[in-house]
Amino acid sequence: MTTTLLPNFIAGRWQTGNGTGTPLFDPVLGTELARVSNAGIDLAEGFAFAREHGGAALRALSYGQRASLLAQIVDVLQANRDDYYAIATANSGTVARDSGVDIDGAIFTLGYYAKQGQALGDAKLLLDGQRIRMAKDPAFQTQHIQVPTQGVALFINAFNFPSWGLWEKAAPALLSGVPVIVKPATATAWLTQRMVKDVVDAGILPAGALSVVCGSSNGLMDQLQPFDVVSFTGSAETAKIIRSHRAVSELSVRCNIEADSLNSALLAPSATEGSEAFQLLVNEVAREMTVKSGQKCTAIRRIFVPRALYAAAAQAIGAKLAKTTVGNPRNETVRMGALVSQEQKTSVLAGLTQLKTEASVLYDGNAQPLVDAGADSACVAPVLLGTETPMTAQVLHAVEVFGPVSTLMPYDSIDEAYAMVRRGEGSLVCSVYSEDPVFTAQASVALASSHGRVHAISPDVATLHSGHGNVMPMSLHGGPGRAGGGEELGGLRALNFYHRRSAVQGSSLALDALAAQGVSLPL
Ligand code: NAP
Repeated sequence: MTTTLLPNFIAGRWQTGNGTGTPLFDPVLGTELARVSNAGIDLAEGFAFAREHGGAALRALSYGQRASLLAQIVDVLQANRDDYYAIATANSGTVARDSGVDIDGAIFTLGYYAKQGQALGDAKLLLDGQRIRMAKDPAFQTQHIQVPTQGVALFINAFNFPSWGLWEKAAPALLSGVPVIVKPATATAWLTQRMVKDVVDAGILPAGALSVVCGSSNGLMDQLQPFDVVSFTGSAETAKIIRSHRAVSELSVRCNIEADSLNSALLAPSATEGSEAFQLLVNEVAREMTVKSGQKCTAIRRIFVPRALYAAAAQAIGAKLAKTTVGNPRNETVRMGALVSQEQKTSVLAGLTQLKTEASVLYDGNAQPLVDAGADSACVAPVLLGTETPMTAQVLHAVEVFGPVSTLMPYDSIDEAYAMVRRGEGSLVCSVYSEDPVFTAQASVALASSHGRVHAISPDVATLHSGHGNVMPMSLHGGPGRAGGGEELGGLRALNFYHRRSAVQGSSLALDALAAQGVSLPL
């Protein structure tokens, strides 16, 4: 059955693309859910409308007023939460807990920025640092300021977070006064489109402040102009195309990239089999491998343990994974749903084959039957791989399999462990499990230069911590090197991407007048 096309919201109106469009499927049942197309839509008109109308209207407001808009968006999303869960079940194949990571994670992040933004009050610009004297006479000084960029923020997003991926970027952009155009990944575009529709229907934002374009990415980057910004989340291959586009290479459009990542979990050298640190690592690895079927950019892909604990760790993680029932997310006994599409299943299985050239299988959940789902569904059960010779491995440190797959590796010294972690060439997050605060601090310093986040876990925070893979709005998200080199969130630091910094050199009187309109970020 051919389904209907989801309309795009651009240039302040709903517009349906031409042609039959691209179908979106239920990854468990295989049924078609909706179609997307932006063929024939005047993108240039849409970008100009956002820049001129959306941007001007948002910049006329203070940070506090824009924060109130975020709070109103939270209310709308809360009111429609059940519908979002139903869409996630159908289109992403996720169990309720995993849908929550995307949907409630988004609402929480928006709420956080609404609150933080409120504290910026009626200011319309950011004061950056203190005034600095430029002459012997203090009458002439310099004050750095940050003002919202006078362009649009284009978000090109990945399939795994259709909700959070939109709002974790839109919250700081809108708070900054910058209009948003989001292009969701096609496979799961429905949830993003529906959330934008609900917010548009509620009439919260000024015209042009929020647009959604579903379907092909063709021509989107061509619309960008010097004061626009683009924030991309997705694969390293597509990131390369974005980085080399004329908009970035010639027009200096500011570009943030969140790409793939071979995140690690590291157990301290002093850990023993019965220790709390050991158990904390085992619990977290099993959780990370199965939440959203391992389709999290932050998921643990490599696990490093002291060599003496290799067999015990393999056994303990495998035993935990064996409790994970996989199948149709509508069945209440199912703990883990499907991958988002048949394409992803093909990609995960191909990646597994690659990893197996250097690793053996320590646990394979695919030996157990799926619950309420056929072998032709996009379900793939967790697989724990392992190698006893990780120092000579290549593929294991280079290939990200975007599914419920992780590889256990022993180390002989902590320096060897750090060296192997760094062979991921820059990652989003590394978690460290230890009972010794001095070791934890040393490890954090050693790992910080190659990670956007170090998640340092000890028994005293066992019941408090936010999880290795959970991206929290108050902490930085992003990583150097192959992780893309980007930075998102990190509290109000996120506003930097959507502002331009300028040094105003002038008389103290003029700087006094300037300061009256500004606020310093409480970082
Ligand atoms: P992808 O294939 O690179 O697609 C990402 C987005 O780019 C989609 O919206 C896609 O649209 C669009 N796109 C494709 N070709 C394009 C082009 N030539 N120009 C402009 N846009 C283009 O990635 P994915 O498969 O959706 O996502 C999985 C990857 O994302 C994984 O590697 C994962 O690690 C990474 N990821 C990273 C983070 C992070 O925060 N670091 C978060 C989530 C995911 P279509 O869908 O229409 O093709």
